[in-house]
Amino acid sequence: MNHLKTQLAEYCQHCKSMQNLKGNFSNREQKTSDGGTRTIITVSYHCECCHNFICSEEYEQNSQLMF
Ligand SMILES: [Zn+2]
Repeated sequence: MNHLKTQLAEYCQHCKSMQNLKGNFSNREQKTSDGGTRTIITVSYHCECCHNFICSEEYEQNSQLMF
């Protein structure tokens, strides 16, 4: 598990205000239909203040996303 400081801010239900998010990201391999594998990066976003879970997103490693 890796930690990621983000520029994102979302409404936190727990804090009842806008908060910066921090992300944890992990990699996993997924089989593709053509027999290969691809790496999926799952990012879970938590409130920086209270650590309440906000949302998660998945990306393919070779997408345009820059960390
Ligand atoms: Zn919060």
